[in-house]
Amino acid sequence: MKLFTAGVATESNTFAPMPTGLDDYTIFRSAPPRDQPTSFTQPFLVWLRLAAERGFTVVGSLGASAPPAGPTVRRVWEGFRDEILADLRRAMPVDAVLLNLHGAMVADGYDDCEGDLLAYVRAMVGPDVPIGAELDPHCHVTPLMIDQATALILYKEFPHTDFAERAVDLFELIVAAAERRTRPHMALWDCRMIGSYFTTIQPMKGFVDDVKAREGKNGILSISPVHGFPYGDVPGNGTKMLVVTDARPAEGAALARELGLRWIGLRGRTHPPMLTVAQAVARAASVPGRPVVAADVADNPGGGLPGDSTVVLRALVSLGVTDAAFATIWDPMAVSFARAAGPGARLRLRIGGKAGILSGDPLDLDVTVAAVTDDLYQRYAGVGGSLGPAARVTAGGLDIILASRRHQVRSPDVFRGLGLDPLTTKLLVVKSTNHFRAEFEKIAAEILYVAPPDVFSSVPFTRITRPKWPLDPDAFADLEAAGLLPAGDERARSDPS
Ligand SMILES: [Zn+2]
Repeated sequence: MKLFTAGVATESNTFAPMPTGLDDYTIFRSAPPRDQPTSFTQPFLVWLRLAAERGFTVVGSLGASAPPAGPTVRRVWEGFRDEILADLRRAMPVDAVLLNLHGAMVADGYDDCEGDLLAYVRAMVGPDVPIGAELDPHCHVTPLMIDQATALILYKEFPHTDFAERAVDLFELIVAAAERRTRPHMALWDCRMIGSYFTTIQPMKGFVDDVKAREGKNGILSISPVHGFPYGDVPGNGTKMLVVTDARPAEGAALARELGLRWIGLRGRTHPPMLTVAQAVARAASVPGRPVVAADVADNPGGGLPGDSTVVLRALVSLGVTDAAFATIWDPMAVSFARAAGPGARLRLRIGGKAGILSGDPLDLDVTVAAVTDDLYQRYAGVGGSLGPAARVTAGGLDIILASRRHQVRSPDVFRGLGLDPLTTKLLVVKSTNHFRAEFEKIAAEILYVAPPDVFSSVPFTRITRPKWPLDPDAFADLEAAGLLPAGDERARSDPS
């Protein structure tokens, strides 16, 4: 058997002004490097191992991944796609195609890069060669993708820890189809909502456990909850339920609907409570230990957001909060001013609020430069990353870390690297959604999540398919009228999803 593999992955925030260009992609050709596997390269390594065990041939093409940011530049996407197609043409005939994609990639002129690639690959290999793709659950699963692929399998966990297991699942499913042992059929059901779904806590943990328990019996090959990526303003955006059966379209559709309705019933309870800044400050004051760590989840650079939003910082300033530190504001210009002035200098500094419409307004503060560095580095999970030249400035008892590179905060190193001891500070606010926990849990007296009460209603969507809960509170009126959901779910209406 001859397998063809390729992959392009990025998560495109269509509201982010930073274009994703060729330089933003980490690229390999043929096979990924075997040392230091990443979440993107690991599925390829799994497929190579499984293929070698069975004596299959693998023809590897392009692998390209970029961190979340704005849409990819058009010629970059078209170049990647055409390179993969040229490699596939040379490799033909192949018995199966395995793709490692993200699922929320948007390029200038392309709302659905994955659907575009799948359609070209299908046209080349014909209707009988199975095509499988592994996706991040923060993806837009579109009708085009369902039509063109044989099977899509998403990571089930958030935070994502199961990309290697899902790579095994996809390999087995696609090989079985190529050997004509199964005939996969995909059913997709639209849950008409957007949201954030933490699978390490209830009720999502139990929901995912139930999904897993149903796989592998009664002709059910795979089930993937599609979380969706809210910040992609494209028609395919949204939470959905995907079921792959062995040639059982009616049963697959019924199960996708059943599980989708259950998921809707969990809305508003699928993530930790989101506090206002004032609530978080009050909570921190009542906790005996220190530091209390609060996540600014609505401006997580790891989710493609700018990372220079001043919304939470401004609230801290206007509340007069002291004994607190904020990391980071992505602002190379402010960093350069602070570095030029040097430690001890006093400046009126314009901070953040520059990158785009989700950044809020710039904050003008009288600050003292406390520390500067050429290279602010943070270590986490055995790896690390640089935030570039950086500065710490203080304003009225509040420390603010300014960084030159966009990166979510993943380690207390961002404070230590600029001479601030995180253990002695009462409140640490970091821009991240979930990944900060691994390192901050080790030092935090308590962890809080901060977001505006209407985080999605302040996003200027124009192109997503409506209705969508919580933007449209009556999104499920027909389902409620039909008795399929509990009517008048006040919890759902009041929750700041
Ligand atoms: Zn994701």
